[in-house]
Amino acid sequence: MRAVILRDGRFSVESVPDPKPVAGSVVLQVAACGICGTDHGIFKNRLLPDGAILGHEFAGTVVEVGNGVVDWQEGDRAAVLPIPFCGRCELCLNDKQNLCRHGLLNTIGCSGEAGGLAERVLVSTASLRRLPSSLDPQLAALVDPLAVALHAVNLGSVHPGTRVGVLGLGPLGLFSALIARQHGGMGFGLDHRPARVECAHALGLGAFTSDDEADERIRDLTNGGPDVVIEASGRPESIERAATLARVGGRVVMVSSYHAPAEIKPGRWLTRGISLLPSIAYTSQEFETALELLAMRRIDATQLVTGVHSLEETQSVFDRFETQNDAIKILLDPTLRRSEA
Ligand SMILES: [Zn+2]
Ligand SMILES: [Zn+2]
Repeated sequence: MRAVILRDGRFSVESVPDPKPVAGSVVLQVAACGICGTDHGIFKNRLLPDGAILGHEFAGTVVEVGNGVVDWQEGDRAAVLPIPFCGRCELCLNDKQNLCRHGLLNTIGCSGEAGGLAERVLVSTASLRRLPSSLDPQLAALVDPLAVALHAVNLGSVHPGTRVGVLGLGPLGLFSALIARQHGGMGFGLDHRPARVECAHALGLGAFTSDDEADERIRDLTNGGPDVVIEASGRPESIERAATLARVGGRVVMVSSYHAPAEIKPGRWLTRGISLLPSIAYTSQEFETALELLAMRRIDATQLVTGVHSLEETQSVFDRFETQNDAIKILLDPTLRRSEA
């Protein structure tokens, strides 16, 4: 099969042996795999060794089943929950499954476990979630980022009337704003990229281009600042900005990947009573809810997909990840044979 292999800090498509099904697992043919800030961070900071196959946001069709697998068969379509929660640790047993060390250290596509940037992937049946016929398997690649946003909104306790500010309108920011609205929150988003602000408007969300007056405008509209600010830009300096934007006694939910230090003014957090809530991953229940939200079209994710590319285009997608201003969610489709222009 063709797979995108990371070698010497670059991606190239190589021909590698097809994965063989083992007991309790299936071989999934990938319909699409999304790229996010976590993948970009792994690439940029060289967090995985040579030979790794990235990709944790994917879905597809079962093409082979291993011994003992009875509830899945060839042709079944599934989304992959890439985090193998152990289900036994103190965190898993105490409502903090998203922090399970076994899960986070062995996530498919992030840890050395071969991921979705390939034609086929070996997946344990414990990681499969059945797709209803209403859900396009390419769109199901967005279940993972939607679940990440759902966890952030849940952690931020967004209820009817909660005033919400979202910094950064990439996939996580837009999904957070959409879910916050669904929970009855009143939200405003900010981004310095006009195309992302336009996408937010197209989704019926309140959003502004991030300039000197934008924070003041949001403070005005929310009568003193949002109750909760969801930091989804991934810019370390944005964390302090979130604390300044939030109303006194408010909370900041941090939901991106951060790979650089940030300067904060602890005195400001202290005197304004701002809580910081770091939000990583999701619980399996939240993953299942996210899948339902997409399947029932309660969240319309189609507008977030701004490009579907071939595996051969992976390197250029990563090269443009931080600079391509009109991109929101990029999917890689292993069935496409378009070569890099
Ligand atoms: Zn991701
Ligand atoms: Zn656990």
